Amino acid sequence: MCPVRELKKIVEDVYYIPGRTNVGVIVRDDWCILVDTGLDEDQGRRIVNIVRDAGLKIKYIFNTHSHADHVGGNSIILDRSGAIIIAPSIESYFIENPVLEPIFLYGSYPPESLREKFFMAKPSKVDRVISEGVDGELDLTYVALPGHSFNMYGLVAGDVFFIGDALFPENLIEKFGVLYHFNVRDTVKTLYKLREAKHRYYVPCHFEPASDIGKVVEVNLDSIKKVRKIIEEHTVSKISMEELFSIILSRFKLELSPQMYFLYSSALKSYISWLVDERVIDGRFEDGRLYLFRVE
Ligand SMILES: [Zn+2]
Repeated sequence: MCPVRELKKIVEDVYYIPGRTNVGVIVRDDWCILVDTGLDEDQGRRIVNIVRDAGLKIKYIFNTHSHADHVGGNSIILDRSGAIIIAPSIESYFIENPVLEPIFLYGSYPPESLREKFFMAKPSKVDRVISEGVDGELDLTYVALPGHSFNMYGLVAGDVFFIGDALFPENLIEKFGVLYHFNVRDTVKTLYKLREAKHRYYVPCHFEPASDIGKVVEVNLDSIKKVRKIIEEHTVSKISMEELFSIILSRFKLELSPQMYFLYSSALKSYISWLVDERVIDGRFEDGRLYLFRVE
């Protein structure tokens, strides 16, 4: 197969490479800016080949956030292109020190099974940290999309809005039940912001680009409401946090490895923070356990 065909055109000068993580390719003259780099060296190598066969040099990499499936190709692309990496501030610490990701999920030094590529990419040096607004030099606009990760950013190139992991498709929501959000309250605000957005094309990382994202925004909001409702229902009487998590994970029929359990419990703790901050639930330590209960 001719690799150039794998470069899919969205509009003039803005393309993407479909994959488990879609990678944006914004063309300027004979060079390009990549938006994220996929999970690993294999995907990185594939990106390098596709872009090279299209006659383009990789000059910049923009990482929307630091999750391993978005920065995993960074190091090999850097080796082969010497590209400049642009990333949001807190994300940059994790991109440069990827062991922070499994440490963050586990809450202490993580076992080896958590220090593998799904949770931990190879390190790469971030050259430029961004803030919200227009980048006149590259003719791009950086847009904060907080919630899913520490401070994820999207990128607007002309008519195209690369939205990172701000939205997930219905099939992944069904499969995973509880989506990962670092800060659920911020995710909800970001979803409201996307509901009002008026761009011609949106490029999410885990499903195909679309012009109309209205329905998928609602599906994402509904999935959050569903998890929140389960927590509210099961905290009417006091319940240990472990038991609550067990009920939620069983409800979605999730059979998890210990590694995935840490990812899910991190996601669920974000819901707990949200509801505690809103004074809907509170916690109490009793008999060696943390109990959660509804505040009347
Ligand atoms: Zn992510």
